[in-house]
Amino acid sequence: MTDAVRLEDVSFAYGETPALRDVSLTIESGEFLGLIGPNGSGKTTLLSVMLGLIEPDSGSVELFGDPIDSFDDGHRIGYVSQKSTEKGTAMPVTVEEVVEMGRYAHVGSGRLRAEDRDAVQAAMERVNITDLADRQVSSLSGGQQQRAFIARALASDADLLALDEPTVGVDADSRDRFYGLLDELNDEGITIVLIEHDIGVVTDRASRIACLNTELYHHGDPESFHESDALERAYGSTGQVVGHHH
Ligand code: ADP
Repeated sequence: MTDAVRLEDVSFAYGETPALRDVSLTIESGEFLGLIGPNGSGKTTLLSVMLGLIEPDSGSVELFGDPIDSFDDGHRIGYVSQKSTEKGTAMPVTVEEVVEMGRYAHVGSGRLRAEDRDAVQAAMERVNITDLADRQVSSLSGGQQQRAFIARALASDADLLALDEPTVGVDADSRDRFYGLLDELNDEGITIVLIEHDIGVVTDRASRIACLNTELYHHGDPESFHESDALERAYGSTGQVVGHHH
């Protein structure tokens, strides 16, 4: 099976500030990768490099077997950034319109066809937001907005879902339901890359953990992560560890 993402010796600095140093990481199709590390450790930067939003200073990036420069299947990737919610708040659009955006990659500048409308309805049903279809995105809770953005990714037939702290500001019950949904999507074969500051949540759910602090300290299954000293090394004495219950 083709790997979903392949990074080799990726380095990137914002001016003088190194954000990633020699990071090599392969994400297999179907994997659920939890990306952890203290604040400012390069997690969002790594996601941005993977998705082609930032070009690394050195190293190579492949998506689904293609060098990122020649990868033109953007619809296969759904990105729910930390800023999605803020943007959603600024845009006067309904939930259904947001989900329809997921079909644009398939219809170009043309109008949505019956099959596109079906895909939009199916995606909204899948994440349980059909009853919110006509609501302004700005009127929704954070958790509902995140589900709308996931529905947009599903409508575009995304194979890879990248999420940057999707449940910040979401209450505990909604968060559990949200992660239940991610588990289901992963069971259905969607590759998931999740940045989440609560380490307990990540190690309970992910099949692989990447622990980062500019350099990659550990990459492996949750068990090998717990057995390693990566957590202590990556977090040092920053006191930022959240939810580490082992
Ligand atoms: P994380 O997502 O783990 O919190 P980031 O990838 O956002 O980490 O940031 C990694 C490092 O790069 C930090 O030192 C951060 O201050 C710096 N950084 C992030 N974005 C920018 C930017 N746009 N300009 C300058 N420095 C940045």
